[in-house]
Amino acid sequence: MLDADFFRRWMTATAASVDREADRLTALDSPIGDADHGSNLRRGFTAVTAALEKESPPTPGAVLTLAGRQLISTVGGASGPLYGTLLRRTGKALGDAAEVDEQQFAEALRAGVDAVMQLGGAAPGDKTMIDALAPAVDRLADGFGAARSAAEQGAEATTPLQARKGRASYLGERSIGHQDPGATSAALLIAALAETEGK
Ligand code: ADP
Ligand code: MG
Repeated sequence: MLDADFFRRWMTATAASVDREADRLTALDSPIGDADHGSNLRRGFTAVTAALEKESPPTPGAVLTLAGRQLISTVGGASGPLYGTLLRRTGKALGDAAEVDEQQFAEALRAGVDAVMQLGGAAPGDKTMIDALAPAVDRLADGFGAARSAAEQGAEATTPLQARKGRASYLGERSIGHQDPGATSAALLIAALAETEGK
């Protein structure tokens, strides 16, 4: 079973990973964006960990809805509302249970990813964070390690794609040949899940 502490540690592990990888995320956002993805997410997840420490939400759902709210209010770029919606919608789907099992979490995360697709209008193959999130959700029933591999492969597979959503889409064919920064950070989020499980 997964309790509030598990979800708090997932957010903390994501914040640490985003902090370590911020320069790389920003470098990926340079040729096909505006070179701010790493700093956007670093600001967002720093606010998430500070809010979680201050408020200690008691349930998995409350942890994720608070985290999502923080991302929406602190990240200026497109990724803030999208990641914020992912976590808020996932948290809402978890309800107010004190603990959830892996299957409930997998269903909730699917609802979160669906909400991101609805908000941003992106489908798999559009060269966005969805290309890492959707395959991860599809493999979650096989464990966090399987989801992590699927997310990482999905992020790498964005390189040959032409962007159809977000800032990178303005480049048309020139967006081909670069890995998508948001798919890369989404793989960090899912990888942090696998890291958290092991503790
Ligand atoms: P901005 O593009 O406003 O500078 P960021 O650099 O923080 O915001 O985030 C860019 C990432 O957001 C992209 O790499 C992509 O993965 C993701 N993204 C952008 N638009 C969408 C969308 N409509 N749907 C899903 N993801 C998107
Ligand atoms: Mg950007």
